[in-house]
Amino acid sequence: MHELSVCWALISEVERLAQEAGEDSIAHIAIRVGELSGTDPGLLLRAFEVARSGTKAEHAHLTIARCDPRVKCTECGLENVTRPNRLLCAFCGSFRVKVIGGDELSIAAVEFSAPDVPGISDPPVAGGSANLNTEEEAPHV
Ligand SMILES: [Zn+2]
Repeated sequence: MHELSVCWALISEVERLAQEAGEDSIAHIAIRVGELSGTDPGLLLRAFEVARSGTKAEHAHLTIARCDPRVKCTECGLENVTRPNRLLCAFCGSFRVKVIGGDELSIAAVEFSAPDVPGISDPPVAGGSANLNTEEEAPHV
């Protein structure tokens, strides 16, 4: 499944960013998915829920922004936003267009969780009773 390997690549990239930032947990990932990238946002979201398990992105929220294809006409030189099944120049109707956008699959933003501050031990999340966070490395101040 294409979307699953996309997610693995995405997660390994954000984990690397988290590593660099010294963060343990990722709260939010925003990505841009071009209409021409061949990636289905619905499948991507589902694949993400599978792929994130056991990673720093385990509790991350994924937001997907779709990007329309953009083409540049080689006849009249104008740039158009167009539809995936209609790669024509909107101005002169030429099919001699070059795709200049809409095939992207990129990370737009990553937010890390706020680090646990000793003293403020009041998690706002209700429900789950099991605490899976074993934070042995948190120093006592
Ligand atoms: Zn044109």
